[in-house]
Order: sequence, then structure tokens, then C-alpha cells
Amino acid sequence: MTARKIIVVGGGAAGLMAAGQAAEAGAAVVLIEKMQRSGRKLSITGKGRCNVTNVAERETFISHFGTTGPFLRPAFERYFSADLVAFLESHGVPLVTERGGRVFPVSGRAPDVVHAFVQWVIRSGVISHCRTRADALLLETGRIAGVQCGADTLRADAVILATGGKSYPATGSTGDGYDLARTAGHTIVPPRPALVPLEIDGNTAARLDGLSLRNVRATVLVDGDKRREAFGELLFTKFGVTGPVIMTLSGEAVEAVQSGCSADLVIDLKPALDSEKLDRRLQRDLEARAEEPMRSLLRGLLPKPLVGVCLQKLGMPAHRLGRSVSAHDRKRLGCWLKAFPLSVTGHRSFEEAIVTAGGVDTNEIDPNRMASRVCDGLFVAGELLDVQANTGGYNLQAAFSTGWLAGRSAAGGVPSSLV
Ligand SMILES: Cc1cc2nc3c(=O)[nH]c(=O)nc-3n(C[C@H](O)[C@H](O)[C@H](O)COP(=O)(O)OP(=O)(O)OC[C@H]3O[C@@H](n4cnc5c(N)ncnc54)[C@H](O)[C@@H]3O)c2cc1C
Repeated sequence: MTARKIIVVGGGAAGLMAAGQAAEAGAAVVLIEKMQRSGRKLSITGKGRCNVTNVAERETFISHFGTTGPFLRPAFERYFSADLVAFLESHGVPLVTERGGRVFPVSGRAPDVVHAFVQWVIRSGVISHCRTRADALLLETGRIAGVQCGADTLRADAVILATGGKSYPATGSTGDGYDLARTAGHTIVPPRPALVPLEIDGNTAARLDGLSLRNVRATVLVDGDKRREAFGELLFTKFGVTGPVIMTLSGEAVEAVQSGCSADLVIDLKPALDSEKLDRRLQRDLEARAEEPMRSLLRGLLPKPLVGVCLQKLGMPAHRLGRSVSAHDRKRLGCWLKAFPLSVTGHRSFEEAIVTAGGVDTNEIDPNRMASRVCDGLFVAGELLDVQANTGGYNLQAAFSTGWLAGRSAAGGVPSSLV
């Protein structure tokens, strides 16, 4: 019997996994990657350390994908974090679990993960064509017949699209898959940057450029209503704010800005103290350092660049002595420290977005096989799908799990859903 021919388009996390799985299941697999080598984005993930997955239990894990999560349940039921950990450890990449359940290679090197996948794909018998771009899908009588790459026509029984989203386009993820999927009849939920730095009104951010605030609590308000909060590190840049806390909150802020609503951030600079405790602390400080000017007194409470911003926003002269601060001004200072406001004016582009929200409408994909419901022989995996999560290893696991399922199903190894 001749082996089933499968073309995988895209050599990222999802495509490498899909190609290797399909080959191990007995298919003749060709992997097409338009960059010089596979796994470019994977090699820069997790600030070069690659947060491959998270040890959160399955339902908690799924909740990190918001409304896009339930679609992933069948893929996670078949291939989840423990499977990925076992796979990588058995392929020479020992892993370690860190704070928040995040899993990284012990070596701290994302390229080790790429190397393990690329070597495994080669050993599985996959034929890789790098520097080859899939320009079009070959469609014959409503089903997939192969892929067009320049002048070359590559025929196949099934095609797995794993071209990723539009984020960090220098890694090769330029959104080609949206057009390819559209030609096969798919609906594309409009792509938008997610996990992306935010732009802030006025010159406050520029004044604080380079300042990192650890252990703060930030809340995003949409049209004045509290939407979500996050705790951790926040970083100022010359245009706005970034860092883990902002990555978590950016989804709500981007959606608000794009739909014409107002989006504000409120930063609690002293989350360990409630308002009363903070007021008592301020009272003590003002009494103990009564002869000091506010600009030096506040250094005990704030990093240097924030002192000037704080005094200016409160309209308080820098040289005012501690003993001259009225109870009313002390309360205003306490309120500002608990709720430093920043108005969001926009967000950075796909160039700086960690993931792309939107993509192939998951209503048109069978979640039990990652097979297209609108075009026979077509499978879709990874970030090209309309699924996205917070930071924490969730996005890569989704790419690996959907890649695993697409590879196995395209090779004929996973029975069709009966539902
Ligand atoms: C800076 C950064 C850090 C990140 N860190 C983490 C992290 O630590 N943990 C985590 O879970 N997630 C992280 N992510 C998100 C994660 O990297 C992605 O969700 C994941 O890589 C998506 O995998 P994918 O295979 O679907 O797509 P991609 O990794 O984007 O791969 C798609 C591949 O398809 C190729 N391609 C595109 N079009 C064509 C075409 N027409 N023909 C041929 N090939 C094509 C591209 O060149 C690319 O190699 C990070 C993202 C970024 C940008």
C-alpha cells in the first residue's frame, strides 16, 4: 500500500510537531518552511529560554484561553503538558518547572527545543524544504490536492496549514495562512495584536522610560468599569508600558481601543498595604522626617523617576517640607500611590505583539481532528487558528497539541468525530 502523502506548511511549533507525528504514523511527509530554517520564532520564545508549557491542570489551563479555550479541550485530552514534557525529556531536553507552573529547558536555551524537534523530524523521515513559500493551495472538485510553491506544484492527499499568525513577522509569521485558508472557503476572524505593549497618553511614559516596577497591581478599566487586574512587573518605555502585567491586560485594552471605548490603567504602587495602613505609614514618615523636602522624603516610597511625576501630578512643590503637608494632601498622596492613573491611547503593532488574536474561525474546524469542515483534506493547527492565551506556556502547548492532533489525523490515525 502506498503511504498517504501529506504536506505541512510552516515549520514552527505546530508544523514541526504535525510533520513528525504524521511521519511516525506512516505518512510520506513534506514540510515546507519559507525561512532559511524551521523554528525561528520558537528559538526566541520566553526571552530565549522557551516557556514550553505549564503544569496547570487541564481546566485551569483551558481557562487561560478565555472564550477560545473549549475548542482546544479534545486536543489537550489527547496530547497535553505531561506528554510534551515526556517527549522533550526523552529527546535530550531536561525541563524544570518554575514560578507559576511555567516549564523551561534546564539549559535555559530555547534553541535546544528547536534542535530536538528538528532532529526528531529528520529521523522520522520528513522531507523538509526550507526557503520555500507556499503561495497557493491546489483545490480540485472542492478538496485539497496539494500546494503551489512558485512554479512547483506539490501534490498531496492532505495539507496541514501551520503558518502561525502575524506577530513578529521577521520570524516568518506574516499571516500568509489567512489568505490560504480563505481560498479554501474559511472565514477569518479579523487578526489583531494580542499580548502587546500599550501606548499611553501624554509624556509620562517618556519621562519614565526604562523604569521597571516590580510587584505592582495594575487594573484595566473600560469606559470606567473595572475589567481585569494583574500583579507583577511593569516596564515603562518611551511610548507607553510593557512587561508581564501589561501582556496579561493588553487583550481587554486593545479590544476597548479598537471598539472606540476608553481604556485606562490604574497602577497600585503599594499593593501590600491597604489604604489605611498606607496612610498610617505616610503619617509616620511625615512626622519622622518633618524637616525634609518632599522630593527626598518620597524617595523612601518611590523609585527616583516616579518622585517627580508624583509631585507634578499632585501639584505639590518638590521643596515642601514634610511638616507642611496637610492631612488633605497626605490623603491625596495615598490615593495616588494606590491608583496611579494612565490613559491608554493605543497599542503597538504586530511587530511587537507576542501573539495574534483572531484567525481561522474554529467553528469551521473539527476539534477532534483539526480537520477543516469546509474543505476535505485540509487541516489547520497552531496560532493560525482563532485561539490565544496569556503568557505562561499556554500558547506553545496549544500549538504543539493542535499540531499533534492534525498530524495524527491527517495520517489517518485519529478516528473522525461522531458528533
Ligand atoms: C517574542 C515571543 C516570545 C514568545 N514566548 C512564548 C513562550 O515562552 N511560551 C509560549 O507558550 N508562547 C510564546 N510565544 C508565542 C508562541 O511563540 C506562538 O504562539 C507559537 O510559536 C505559534 O506556533 P505556530 O507553529 O502556530 O506558528 P509559528 O511559530 O509562527 O510558525 C509558523 C511558521 O510558518 C512559516 N510560514 C508562514 N507562512 C508560510 C508560507 N506561506 N510558506 C511556508 N512557510 C510559511 C513561518 O516562517 C513560521 O516558521 C512567544 C511569541 C513571541 C513572538
